[in-house]
Amino acid sequence: MLEHLKDQPADKILSLAAAYKADPREQKIDLGVGVYKNAKGVTPVMRAVKEAEARILAEQQTKAYTGLAGDPAFADAMVDLVLGGTVERDRIAALATPGGTGACRQGFELARLAKPDVRVWHSAPTWPNHLSILKFMGVEAKPYRYFDEETALVDFEGMMEYLQGVAQGDVVLLHGCCHNPTGANLTSEQIDRVTALLTEKGAMPMIDIAYQGFGDGLEADAAATRAIASRVPECLIAASCSKNFGIYRERTGLLMAISAEAGQTKTTQDNMNFLNRQTYSFPPDHGARVVATILNDPELRADWEAELEEVRTGMLALREQLAAELARLTNTDRYAFIARHRGMFSRLGVSPEMVERLREDHAIYMVGDSRMNIAGLNAETVPVLARAIVEAEK
Ligand code: PMP
Repeated sequence: MLEHLKDQPADKILSLAAAYKADPREQKIDLGVGVYKNAKGVTPVMRAVKEAEARILAEQQTKAYTGLAGDPAFADAMVDLVLGGTVERDRIAALATPGGTGACRQGFELARLAKPDVRVWHSAPTWPNHLSILKFMGVEAKPYRYFDEETALVDFEGMMEYLQGVAQGDVVLLHGCCHNPTGANLTSEQIDRVTALLTEKGAMPMIDIAYQGFGDGLEADAAATRAIASRVPECLIAASCSKNFGIYRERTGLLMAISAEAGQTKTTQDNMNFLNRQTYSFPPDHGARVVATILNDPELRADWEAELEEVRTGMLALREQLAAELARLTNTDRYAFIARHRGMFSRLGVSPEMVERLREDHAIYMVGDSRMNIAGLNAETVPVLARAIVEAEK
């Protein structure tokens, strides 16, 4: 029977990582897979995570199952981190999931459970896994215009034009901050206009927030999510702890579903628990327990925030250095957008051929759509990349 299986298309980002690894050149730069790396190219375990793990190791008395929704302390701490008290707690149902991917998947599943023919609108481009999950599920995906290749910024009027096509009961997927893959984000005025439009259309926003703390800071990065969630009747939020806690492999995420009325929350929660039960029963606990331990201990939390802030400002400094270097070499402000983008990624907006030349001639690896992971750089490699970009342009 297994002989009927067909080859699956390789994940482009994961195969890029393999190609980088196999490249024998000594001076090579990996701007591919979306994992934070420090100046030495290392993805460290954060100090607060190590400490929380040590405490859990010393104090944990049982590994018996948690509830289907995971540890309530994790849900409470994350609801607070993301929403900061802007939405009544009794309207929020929360489900621990394996990573932000699991939260996205269960969010789509919940929407489909509520409305079997649900359509999901997504930015063009978006994180490719959004699209492949929707396709795999057989859920209709509708793109809305988002990125303007010319300016490398958001084409907001284009976006609003597309969103005019949204119908009642559609889901509109938005990135909470640090848009992946472009790095281009909506302003707070633009968020207000999108919120008003979705409310008018009777559509439900679904916010994917995978990089809180990587853009303008923990609070600022949650502002769009809070502004939307506090003003619409219903909303889904998929949060990931992979990046901001650096616990990628622990698979830690939370799906939040905000119901219009508190009276609906129990049914919403029961349906979410049901989805976990049908998929893997209980969600992973270790990462969730680490996160809850950190967020509920003032000392650990302060240390985590300080380390996260170093990560964030380090990436901002690299952005500024790269934009300045490119301004100097090209004598234009064509690349000024790199310093305006936020998060781990920027989409350069150059052709696949140029991406290819950067790989072949300079051993610089970025995703084919010209997404680069800023954290793959350091102060020494920024000028190398800038020179290579200018040369590859010729
Ligand atoms: N959403 C977006 C936009 C992402 O970039 C990612 C990570 N690449 C995720 C969700 C999910 O990450 P994870 O499952 O590792 O938590």
